[in-house]
Amino acid sequence: MDRQSRFSYQCNQCGLCCHAKVITLSPYDVLRIARARSIATSEAVRRYTLRRGSLLRFGEDGGCVALSGSRCTVHEGRPLACRLYPLGIERTEAGERLIRLDPEPGSRGTYGAEATAGDFIDAQGTKPYFEALETYRALIPAFRARVESIVDFERIEPRDFWRRAVVEALLESNYDPNPLIDAIFDPDGLGRARETESETIRAHVEKLAEMASREDDAERLAAAAVALAISLGYAPGEVIVGR
Ligand code: SF4
Repeated sequence: MDRQSRFSYQCNQCGLCCHAKVITLSPYDVLRIARARSIATSEAVRRYTLRRGSLLRFGEDGGCVALSGSRCTVHEGRPLACRLYPLGIERTEAGERLIRLDPEPGSRGTYGAEATAGDFIDAQGTKPYFEALETYRALIPAFRARVESIVDFERIEPRDFWRRAVVEALLESNYDPNPLIDAIFDPDGLGRARETESETIRAHVEKLAEMASREDDAERLAAAAVALAISLGYAPGEVIVGR
């Protein structure tokens, strides 16, 4: 489906959809969670995320760690995926595709067709999220170009190289230290003391670009490129386009 498709949804706050999910986070999602709780992004990563900041954390009972009863304690800063639910979104360099997700068994949410998917998405306060995704997206070709400048792909098989980067980016434990990935999910760490969110993001993006331009370890850089792409809603293969 797309934004013109007929769709409406009324959340009735049963909290059932806040269980047992895999929710990918962007750097902006982490920033918004942090602002909603008045904490630094590094602390938000520690409390609310897995996989170095790239996944929302769910507890042993299956519930999101931000859930209290049926209430979201970061509601003002809830991630884009939570705002879009029960729509999912797949992003490609060619555009986006919307997916209507199945209701949770027993959910009190009600589906309808009174408006369009685009109306629904706009009503969820998603505009700054999509703007931030575009701002961060500009880093992907820069990371990729830096990788290409330091790897001799005449000698190293590109698909194997990028496959290793995907595996490293998706590890939830036992991953190698990677200051670039740590920095991606810690906008305050690099963009600190900015007045506004947009200034923080701009400073963060500039610093990430600078870090990437100085990074000499191609495998670390490639894993960071893949982690960033996934966090922005792209399939890992999007980084490898053109290989
Ligand atoms: S962040 Fe909030 S809306 Fe999203 S899964 Fe957690 S409790 Fe639910």
